[in-house]
This record gives sequence, C-alpha cells and structure tokens, in this order.
Amino acid sequence: MRLIDIDQAGRLRGPSAMLLLVLLMTTGALAAGFWADRQRHLELESNLRSATEAAVERLSRALGEFRSLAARVPSAGAPDCSPEALERLRRELFGLDYLRDIGIVRDRTLHCSTTLGEIADPVRSSLPDLIVDNGRIALYAYRSVRLSLSRPTMVLQVRHMNALVDPVVVEGLSASPWLDGLQVSDRARADWYALYGEPGTEPVEPVLPGTLVAEACSEQDGFCLRGVLGSPGAASSASVAWVGFAVLGAIAGLAAYLFIQLICLKYCTPAMRIRRAIASGAIQARYQPLFDARSGRLIGVEALARWPSAPSSLRAPDDFVAAAEAGGESSGLTRTMIENVAADLGSWLAARSHLSVAINISAQDLEGEALESSLEDCLLSIGIEPGQIVLEITERSLLGVHRPIQRLAERGYLVHVDDFGEGYSSLAYLHELTLHGVKISRTFVSSLGTDSPKATLVASMVQMADQLGLDVVLEGIETERQREAARSLGKVRWQGFLFARPMAGDALQAFEAALEGGPGDEGDANGAGGGT
Ligand code: C2E
Ligand code: MG
Ligand code: MG
Repeated sequence: MRLIDIDQAGRLRGPSAMLLLVLLMTTGALAAGFWADRQRHLELESNLRSATEAAVERLSRALGEFRSLAARVPSAGAPDCSPEALERLRRELFGLDYLRDIGIVRDRTLHCSTTLGEIADPVRSSLPDLIVDNGRIALYAYRSVRLSLSRPTMVLQVRHMNALVDPVVVEGLSASPWLDGLQVSDRARADWYALYGEPGTEPVEPVLPGTLVAEACSEQDGFCLRGVLGSPGAASSASVAWVGFAVLGAIAGLAAYLFIQLICLKYCTPAMRIRRAIASGAIQARYQPLFDARSGRLIGVEALARWPSAPSSLRAPDDFVAAAEAGGESSGLTRTMIENVAADLGSWLAARSHLSVAINISAQDLEGEALESSLEDCLLSIGIEPGQIVLEITERSLLGVHRPIQRLAERGYLVHVDDFGEGYSSLAYLHELTLHGVKISRTFVSSLGTDSPKATLVASMVQMADQLGLDVVLEGIETERQREAARSLGKVRWQGFLFARPMAGDALQAFEAALEGGPGDEGDANGAGGGT
C-alpha cells in the first residue's frame, strides 16, 4: 500500500499529499522554533557563567586587598583607637580600590572605625555568615551595614579589624545584564547568602525552577559564587526569535516537500515503478490455456503478465505494458515473464513436448540479443524445446523486424502475430516474415455467429492463413455461439473465457491433470477445449 498518491506524471496528489505538506511544514516550524529556543538557552547559560566568573575574580581581588591591609594593621594588644591611629587608617583608605571604612575589632566587638571614630559604647557583631580564605576571613554577606542610607554592603572581618567592601564593588558584582542575583557560599556550598538585593541574615532559598544558575569558585580564597538568571524564556525577544525561526522552519518544510516532489517527478513515473516492480519480483504470470478446436485437446498456454500491487492507474496489463514500452522497460518485463514461466511451469513443460508456451513480446525485444539469452538461460537450459516456445508479437510492432524474426525462426522458435486484423498488414506480407501463425484479434472473433461483415472476414483470414501454412488461433471465444461458428471454420486453435480464464501455474497444472483424467483424454469431444 502506498501512503502518498502519485499520478502518472509523478506528481504528488490528493489529501495525503496535502497532509505530507502540512506535516513537513509543522515539523520544520516546531523543530526550528525549539532549536532557536535551545540556542538562546545555551547562550544565556554561557553568558551567565562568564558573568559569574567575572564576579568571582572581582571578589577575589577585594579579599586580596583586605588580606594585605590586615597584615599592615597592628593586631596585638588593646585596640588602638587614638586619633593618630584612625588617621593612619584613613590614609590607608586612599590607596585602596575595593574597601571603605576600616574598623578596629577585638573579640567581634567594634571599638572604632574610620567613619564613626571611637565608639563610646562598642558593639558586638553577630556570627558571620561564612568563613572564607581557609578559615581566616569572616564574611557578613549582606547586612544592613550601610555607608549611606541607600547603599548596603558586605563586611570582611579578621580577628583584629574589619572593613566594609565598597558598595559600588558589591553592586558591580551583580551589575551584568546576565545576572538577576548573586549568592555566596564557602567551599562546602551548604548555605548560600545573597550578596546584593534585599538585606537578610538567613541563607537564601534554593533557586526556583525555571531559573538558570551558574556556579564558580575561587579555590585560593575558598568561596563560591552562584549567579542566578530568573526568567530565561520569558523575554519577549525570545518569543520573537522563536516565531522567526519557526517561519524559517516552515519554509524549510515547504522546500523539503518540493524536493520530494522533484524526486518523484524523476523517479515515480510509471516506467520507474515498473522497473522497481520487476526488480522486486512483483510482476507475476498467469496462464491461459489454448486448445485444438477439432480434438479439444490442450495444446499450450499463453503467459500473461499480472501486477497485483500496481497503482490503480497501472493495474491493467494493457496499461502497464504500454507504460513499460514507453519507458524502455520492455525487455526487463519480458525477462521477468520468462523467469516466471521457468519457475512456475519449467519442469512441467519440459516433460510435455506436445505443449507450447506463448510469450508476448514487444518490438523492443527484437532489437538486441537479450530475448534469446533469456530464453536460453531460463527455458532451453531446463529442457524446453525451442519449438515449444511461441513468441507473440502484435501486428503493429512488425515494421522493420524482418531480420530478427528470421533469426528467431532459424533458432527453432515459433513466431505468431498477435491481435491480427487490428493493423493493416496483408497476409501475403506476413508470409514474407517467416512467421508460424496468426492470432486473430478478439474484436473480429467476437463477431462470429453474427451476420456482421467482420465474421466473413474472419472466415477468409482463416482460409488464407491455412493456404499459407500458418497456424490460426482465435482468441477471445466467450460464447457457445462463437464456438459453434469457429468450429465450422476448419483447422483452428482457440482460446477464451468460455474454456478457461488465465490462472496461476499450479492451478494450470491441476487443470491439465483433470483434463487428462476426464473424458477428453479418450481423444474426443468433451475436453475443456470443446472439440468435436
Ligand atoms: P493479448 O496478448 O492479446 O492477450 C490476450 C488478452 O485477452 C488477455 O488480456 C486475456 O486475458 C484476454 N482474454 C483471453 N480470452 C478472453 C475472452 O474470452 N474474453 C475477453 N474479454 N478477454 C480475453 P490481458 O491479460 O489483460 O492482456 C492484455 C494484453 O496485455 C495482452 O493481449 C498483451 O498485449 C499484453 N500483455 C499481457 N502480458 C504481457 C507480457 O507478458 N508481455 C507483453 N509484452 N505484453 C503482455
Ligand atoms: Mg498475446
Ligand atoms: Mg491478442
């Protein structure tokens, strides 16, 4: 069963072709849309990773600056909050890139700072969120510690001092368009704290589904950052890109359909289909018996091609044979028919030298050596005599084939003209062609038993053929009346639905066995051929 309708010229047709078009365009649109979505997703992930790595780099530099500052600030003894000490610290601040406001701390208690000066009532800070830098630096990730009202920041602290990271630096960590939020953790990555955003002292919740996340760590400083991008698919630019790519995908689907159409125009023509049918063994043979009119005995069979799985437009033998001839596939068809005869009836025929097999050939078969090779390879090689093989060629194919016909006759094959009467050849011309017989066309035979002038013509054709020594076959006997009229014509053979329809090889053998065992075997009247 074929899924797509293809007409004779190889064009895709009907609802199934429309369905194919819609399917290809839809698939193309969806595939391209999802591909675009995926690409955007990958691009966002890559940008997010880069932005997170850049933030790690920056925070590392801030930690490095804090580390070297801490080494310069005295750590031993009681906190030195003298104006001179604070002045020294303020001067330090001028040379720093990342830190603002240095404080003097003992036991987590802030005694003074460059901004506040000496604190009359020193404040003890809470436990830090994280300990980084191999246990050396405490980090308050994001607290309400502010240098100004609107700019909260984070605090780094060692045992004897602390410093506020410049809020500009903290904001800058998250300033990339590829970051909606930035979180910090130690190397264990158990709890994550917001670096910037709404202040809070609790670890932040796990990232919501649908958000993109990238993590990067500084091994040297013992901390990790997690960049978060909240709405990767929601951006309207994404949907615009999706639609754009979907349209391109649909166009690609249309192009694929047109490509299939082009391939079909080239490869789905009737001739190509017949070639494939021949190659795949889809062409079969049926056999229609021929009888001697006088004795009623079976004298041979005609092999007729059948293509059961053919498209409806090519189902009839007349149609696919004509298409094969038009497409130059005749010799392939003839070869497969000869192979069929060998497979279906080979040994059966070899054991019955009184029976013949008629094979229909076309003018193209007479052009080269292929026909003779096939006959020799398939039939003669298994013991069938050349004289058992009748080659039927239609009258209209006879022009210019004098030599090949003579050669076949010399090899011992019998050549008959098929559908005689439908062309314009005279019997005298046919006689020049070393023919052995004529098969009078059904269109004449059907007139037998009527008073049509065609019936008179049949009688004179039979008479003249007889005088020229040609065998005569009447094809297409369908009624008792035609049979009675044919019988009166003298020495003829006949073939027709009245006696037997074309049948498979094994059915033919059973048919013959039944004839042999029946009354016809006694040599007269009542065989299937209906002799007198
Ligand atoms: P054809 O060679 O003249 O074959 C006889 C056709 O008449 C066959 O039709 C047969 O089934 C049909 N026929 C026989 N007796 C009767 C009857 O009593 N009444 C009616 N109405 N028809 C009858 P089929 O099998 O359809 O073949 C048609 C034509 O296709 C053949 O005509 C032949 O020209 C061609 N053909 C068939 N097989 C082959 C083949 O293997 N090779 C070639 N080249 N042509 C083939
Ligand atoms: Mg024939
Ligand atoms: Mg015929």
